[in-house]
Amino acid sequence: MEFALKEFFGYSTFRPYQKEIIETILEGKDSLVVMATGSGKSLCYQVPPLIVKKTAVVISPLLSLMQDQVMALRQQGIKAEHLSSAQTDSSVQRRAESGQFDILYMTPEKACVISNSFWSNLLDRGICLLAVDEAHCISEWGHDFRVEYKQLCKLRSTLPNVPFVGLTATATEKVRKDIMNSLKMRDPCVTIGSFDRKNLFYGVKSFNRGALFVDELVGEVSKCVATAGSTIIYCTTIKDVQQIFESLLKAGIKAGMYNGQMGNKAREEAHRSFIRDEFDVMVATIAFGMGIDKPNIRYVIHYGCPKSLESYYQESGRCGRDGIASMCWLYYTRGDFGKADFYCGEASSESQRTAIMESFMAAQRYCMLTTCRRKFLLDYFGEKNTPDKCGLDFTLHLFLFEIFNLIESFISEMSRGKTRSQGKKENGTCDNCTISRKESDMSREAFLLISSIRSCGGNWGLNVPIDVLRGSRAKKIINAQFDKLPLHGLGKELSANWWKALAYQLISHESAMCAGYLTETIRDTFKIVSVSPKGLQFLSSSKPDDQPMLVLPV
Ligand code: ADP
Ligand code: ZN
Repeated sequence: MEFALKEFFGYSTFRPYQKEIIETILEGKDSLVVMATGSGKSLCYQVPPLIVKKTAVVISPLLSLMQDQVMALRQQGIKAEHLSSAQTDSSVQRRAESGQFDILYMTPEKACVISNSFWSNLLDRGICLLAVDEAHCISEWGHDFRVEYKQLCKLRSTLPNVPFVGLTATATEKVRKDIMNSLKMRDPCVTIGSFDRKNLFYGVKSFNRGALFVDELVGEVSKCVATAGSTIIYCTTIKDVQQIFESLLKAGIKAGMYNGQMGNKAREEAHRSFIRDEFDVMVATIAFGMGIDKPNIRYVIHYGCPKSLESYYQESGRCGRDGIASMCWLYYTRGDFGKADFYCGEASSESQRTAIMESFMAAQRYCMLTTCRRKFLLDYFGEKNTPDKCGLDFTLHLFLFEIFNLIESFISEMSRGKTRSQGKKENGTCDNCTISRKESDMSREAFLLISSIRSCGGNWGLNVPIDVLRGSRAKKIINAQFDKLPLHGLGKELSANWWKALAYQLISHESAMCAGYLTETIRDTFKIVSVSPKGLQFLSSSKPDDQPMLVLPV
C-alpha cells in the first residue's frame, strides 16, 4: 500500500483513516466513508486497483468532474477513463469491459443502463470495488437528492460480491442510514471523520438589501482579493448574481459569473477560468457546486440565507482546502426566511418536503445563533463531545485582522489568544466566540413577549403577539379581544423589529439544538410560535418586575 501511495501519488504517509478504509476494501467488505472536504477520500478508492490489478468502478455525478479526475490520474501514470451516455466512441466501452483500465468513472445513468454483458465481462476480468462518490445524492433526506442515484440499488444484484464504497462529505445520521439501505450494503464498515474544518472562520451578519450594502460588500471583497486570494460569493437568485457581478467589475475586480441559466459551455468556461486563477471572484448560484477542487479559496460569502445547513456546510467548506486559514461569512436578511415555499416546491413527496423544511429551519437557526457556530454545525452532523466555544488562535486572528481590520475588540482578543494558544495546534474560530458582545438583562422584555405569545393562544406567528404588546387596535386584534389582555400596549416603546429580534433569540437560545424558551413549528407553510416547557417554567417562576435574570446579547 505504501509503495503504491509513493509510486503513483508521491505521498509518503497516509492521512487519517485512509489506510484502514483501503484495507477494508481489500478484505472485500462494504464501507461508508463520511469525511470532510479535502480530507483525501478519493485516494481510498484510487489505491486498491493499483494493488490488486483489478478495475475500480467509480460512480460520480458530474461529467466535467470525471473528466478532470481522469486527466489528473493519467498524468500520474494511472490508466483511467470515463463512460457516460454522451460518450459515442464504442471502443472505450469495449476496452473498459476487457479490464484495460485501473479506474473507470461512470455517471449513475450509464451504470444503470449499460448491458448486463458489460458487467459480466468486466467481472470476469475483475472488479475490485464499486465506489459511489457524493453518495448523499442517493437520499431524499440529503440536500442534493438525485433521482438517477436512486437507481443504483440495481447494481447490488449485478455485482453481488464486489465491495461497495459510499463516499460523502456531508451526511447526518438519517442520510447515512439511507445511503447504506439504498445501496443494500452488508454490514458496512462506517468511517466518520471529524466535520471540524479547523482552519475555517465562521461568521454571520444581517444586512439590509440595497445598493449601499452591495458597495460595502464589494469593498470588503476587494480587500480580500488584494491580500489573500480567491473568493466565491454564493447568491440565492440569478438577479443577485448579476447585480454583484456588475458591481465587482465596476470596481475593477476581476470577477466571473456562474448560474443555471448560462449554457453548458459558458458554465464550463467560467469554472475552468476560476480554477486557473484567471479571475479572483466567482459570483454564483448554488449551481456552482461539486468538483470545485481549488485549494486556495480564501473566502466564501453567502449573500442570503442558504436553503439548508448541509448545503451551507458544503459550500462554505470549499474554502481553505489547503489547510490555510480561510473565512466563511454569511449575510442574511429576515426576508430570506420567507422562502420556505419556494424551496419546498422542489419536493416530490411529503417526507421530502419535511426534510427540506427542517434543514432550511436549521440554516435559519444558524443565522440567528448567539452561541458558537462551529459547535452548532458539528452538533448538527452528530459529532460528539464538541466544546462549547471554539479556539482562539493567534495566527488566525492576526491573519483576519490584517485583512479586514476587524473591530477594535480583536486587538485585545489577539493578545489574549497569544498567551493562551502559544505552541498549540491551529484552531479555527467563529464570530460569536471572538467578538465580545454587549449583554444585558432582558428578563422583563422576555417575560412580556413569552406571556403575550401564551395569552394569544400560541397559534400565531410573531406578528400578532407583538402587535398586542405594541398596543395595536387592528381588526384582527379587536375581534380576538386581545386588546383586553392586561399586557396590551405594555411594550409600545420598542419597535416591532426589536421584539422580533428578541423572539429569535428566545427561539435559538442555548445551543439551539435543544429547546429555547419559544418553539417554532410549521403548519401549512406558516410558522407558528408557541411557548416551550422551558418558557412556561420561566413564566411560572417570575412576575413582570420580579423575575430571574435572563441575560442575552444585544
Ligand atoms: P476529498 O475527496 O475528501 O475532498 P481529495 O481526495 O480531493 O479530498 O484530497 C484532497 C487533497 O489531499 C488532494 O490534493 C490530494 O491529492 C491530497 N491528499 C490525499 N491523500 C493524501 C496523503 N496521504 N498525503 C498527502 N496528500 C494527500
Ligand atoms: Zn465558536
